[in-house]
Amino acid sequence: MKWKVIEKSKLPALIAELASEYEIFAPVKEKSIVSFERLSSGNEAYLGFRNTKKPPKEVFFPQTEVLFTYRIGEKDVEIVESPAVKAKMMVLGVRPCDARSFVLLDKFFSFGEHKDLYYLEKRKNTTVVGLACNHPLSTCFCTSLEGGPFGKEGMDLLLQDINDKYLIETVTERGEELVKKFPWLKDAEKADVEKAKMLSEDAENAVKSKVSVKDVSEKLDRMFDDPLWDQIYQKCLGCGVCTFLCPACCCFDILDEETEERKRVRIWDSCQFSCFTLQGSGHNPRPSGKERMRQRIMHKFNYFVKNHGESFCVGCGRCVQECPVNLDIREVVGAISTRQVE
Ligand code: SF4
Ligand code: SF4
Repeated sequence: MKWKVIEKSKLPALIAELASEYEIFAPVKEKSIVSFERLSSGNEAYLGFRNTKKPPKEVFFPQTEVLFTYRIGEKDVEIVESPAVKAKMMVLGVRPCDARSFVLLDKFFSFGEHKDLYYLEKRKNTTVVGLACNHPLSTCFCTSLEGGPFGKEGMDLLLQDINDKYLIETVTERGEELVKKFPWLKDAEKADVEKAKMLSEDAENAVKSKVSVKDVSEKLDRMFDDPLWDQIYQKCLGCGVCTFLCPACCCFDILDEETEERKRVRIWDSCQFSCFTLQGSGHNPRPSGKERMRQRIMHKFNYFVKNHGESFCVGCGRCVQECPVNLDIREVVGAISTRQVE
């Protein structure tokens, strides 16, 4: 029961069946850009990608999200809409690093006394179907961060591309229940499982980029005022690309909008923006790129480790690929790990 196979040619039919029950998000190719979109009759899942430009975090944490609308009455404020509990959703074709980012985001959005129901409700209603990476990119370093190209964390099912077929591995009970709904799926043969195992080993070996995060958190405890930050931030433009494209970054701002109706809206924000911590008085506790870069690194490799026991990075390499000035987080972490500190 653990392993099934589906011919690639039959995947669209499977997705069409699933669409009667789920709102499905999957990678869609438009020109040269692949990103997670809601599937409709006009677009199709595209699984021939290496990694999507934007991560799938926006399925649960959209770039712009209306939290509620409201009316101001004479005596009080009436909330017109409470958070909508979405229909059953499915995210299909999620690479292992991105699926692992969901686990980190779950920790972030459920931490402490106040749970973020907007995120958590969507997560609860969503089935995650992963897609193993046969060909990691040179910028991938997932194996340094508790992941791997065939990792299963954060998924209900894992698809593994074994040439003309996908091997389907059930990961959770939810995944198992889903597979049971399709009795026409064939059982995998021993050769299919062996083929996937071989591809998995090759993929693991293909991740050449390594970063040592061991001791980095502990070192950062003593590096708040280290002169290294003066060097690291120099070429950063503060564009925020690294944070917007990061599957784990989830800073946001909340504002009220008044068009035909009054809305409270959540939008993505970035700790790399100069106005992120700008106070109404004009004072900014992070006045330059130095403090902002330090915050990004501290949050990922120190504060999050303290709160949740692991780094807030999955090694997807997007920030490495897309930074316009080649500021490479692997080099930053490397410089910290080899730094002599008191
Ligand atoms: S993408 Fe590069 S330049 Fe832009 S904020 Fe991030 S580190 Fe700075
Ligand atoms: S910090 Fe960079 S490598 Fe790490 S998860 Fe974010 S985008 Fe990927």
